[in-house]
Amino acid sequence: MREPCAPLFAANWKMYKGPAETAEFVHSFARRHEPRDDATVVFFPPSISLTAFAAAAGGRPDLEYGVQDVHTEREGAHTGAVSAPMVAQTGAGWGLAGHSERRREFGDDDEAVGRKLVRLLESSLRPILCVGETLAEREAGRLEEVLGRQVGAALSALDVAGRGRLVYAYEPVWAIGTGRTASPVDASGAHAIVRAAIATHASAAEAEAGLILYGGSVKPGNIEELLAAAGVDGVLVGGASLDPDGFAAICRAGRA
Ligand code: PEP
Repeated sequence: MREPCAPLFAANWKMYKGPAETAEFVHSFARRHEPRDDATVVFFPPSISLTAFAAAAGGRPDLEYGVQDVHTEREGAHTGAVSAPMVAQTGAGWGLAGHSERRREFGDDDEAVGRKLVRLLESSLRPILCVGETLAEREAGRLEEVLGRQVGAALSALDVAGRGRLVYAYEPVWAIGTGRTASPVDASGAHAIVRAAIATHASAAEAEAGLILYGGSVKPGNIEELLAAAGVDGVLVGGASLDPDGFAAICRAGRA
């Protein structure tokens, strides 16, 4: 039986909040959220707002931050793109890879996601790998196959040290931004599948140690039950992380 661990609360702001709004949010959130030594809080603002986040959170090292996406290359002729080494220069510590919106809108396939994980790790950014099934895949009974493929492909791109830094986020596509949340039972079941895939493609010890977040319409009203679900080590929050009051309420969950 796994011991519950200190929860990780992650905020994915998607394409919301430029530099000025980011600074305003950070000041407002910092007034509402006391540092917790029994939890980790990480924000993913748009890349244009990373330096504004760093400046505004200067006195609050407990408010960690990272990038929503990086290019598969370290540098080059890729107009409009942002690389992992550039992100590291802002002082960021984290990076998302494989978010379903990236997979769907920008064609990030498993191979590209694996390369992005490598780029993040090379720049000492801790990656959160997002995996999840569409409604059609779930209804066709393909949950295990889809999660196994996404986790397996990512792990095959990494060495043991890289795998040890990886955090996982189970985000059912049908629950992202839809208001439909996976039940705690569904979340636990899917997290067990992700953990089994880690055991298959890495090792049982890595599966036991791996942190798996749940993401998909998490709100102040459902955070406690989701965090209490077996195998849920934290949450990745989109829409509800844009409001300082609401996200501060989420980040109060699971206090010892
Ligand atoms: C997300 O973008 O990762 C997400 C989970 O969004 P939402 O909380 O809005 O469903």
